[in-house]
Amino acid sequence: MTTQTAVVQFALEPHAVELREIPIPEIGDGEVLLEVGAVSVCGSDVHQSRNTHSWPVNIPVVLGHEFGGTVAGAGRGVTGFREGDRVVSETAAEICGTCMLCRTGRYNLCPARKGFGYGVNGAMAQYVRVPARCLHHIPDTLPFDIACLAEPHSVAYQVMCVNSNIAPGDFVVVIGPGPIGLLCTRMAALSGAGPLLVVGLSKDGPRLEAARRLGATHTVDIETENLAEIVRDISPIGADLVCDASGASSTLEIALKLTRPDGQVSKVGWSPEVITTDVNPLVLGNIRLQGSFSHNYPVWERVIQLLDRGVTLPETIVGLRSPLAGWREAFDSMHDGRVIKSVLLPGAR
Ligand SMILES: [Zn+2]
Ligand SMILES: [Zn+2]
Repeated sequence: MTTQTAVVQFALEPHAVELREIPIPEIGDGEVLLEVGAVSVCGSDVHQSRNTHSWPVNIPVVLGHEFGGTVAGAGRGVTGFREGDRVVSETAAEICGTCMLCRTGRYNLCPARKGFGYGVNGAMAQYVRVPARCLHHIPDTLPFDIACLAEPHSVAYQVMCVNSNIAPGDFVVVIGPGPIGLLCTRMAALSGAGPLLVVGLSKDGPRLEAARRLGATHTVDIETENLAEIVRDISPIGADLVCDASGASSTLEIALKLTRPDGQVSKVGWSPEVITTDVNPLVLGNIRLQGSFSHNYPVWERVIQLLDRGVTLPETIVGLRSPLAGWREAFDSMHDGRVIKSVLLPGAR
């Protein structure tokens, strides 16, 4: 067998994604061939399939950057991983390896970074080629259809547990109950946040219910309820931390208004939207504004332990599991809000 089926984005147009037969990749030095056990669908995959993304895509490209699987072959110079090992992979498929950020372990911020699923071929296929430096072993007790969620968990861990400080009893607000916002909610709950308030739209009903299962003490429908008043009732000076996980730019203004003086706004997710916004609350409130992008080695090791212990309640967000052939429904159901997160199983028929 020399070819495989893959979910390929072939043009920078809406709905330019299809199943294609492509060659199984050949591996070079320092690389492994990974047989994909599971790959979860990211909002970014859905954006690329609709051409609503805001990052450069090297077409044609196999989608998918949230994955785990079994090592099927190892190239020369690979140490620590061999055929049969169960692993998950980080997303920084290409980095320069020599810049200050790479040399200090912050390779996720390397200016030359290219990720799976847009910069190089991703994992929505039977096999994917991965540099061994991206890999982490996972325990036998952790199934692939949960292990693949290590990537979005690492995004949320980076926002809430690395780029933010949460102490027990802190009042935390999360804007946007998408998969990342919900995982940020869970990380805040595990860090002892409370009150913990999650904000969504009217169509987000099921997601806000998931937020409550993940530890939110309050949920607010911003279209029918007075968010500012509810926050003021909880704390007249505002929230200690506001995590803006909406993926939109314009919500920054809301986030700044909800934050207490000397508090922090942490923003994750990006959009093509360019905004004008009132930054005076940032200055007048002595607020720290922190962006958060991607994740690195220690975050992944910690998240794998959390997943194996089940404490992040990952089943709460998984609404659909499907073979590769069902990729379109897996994408559409996330786009329409019918499921929070879909997982593709390339080994299943
Ligand atoms: Zn993702
Ligand atoms: Zn670099």
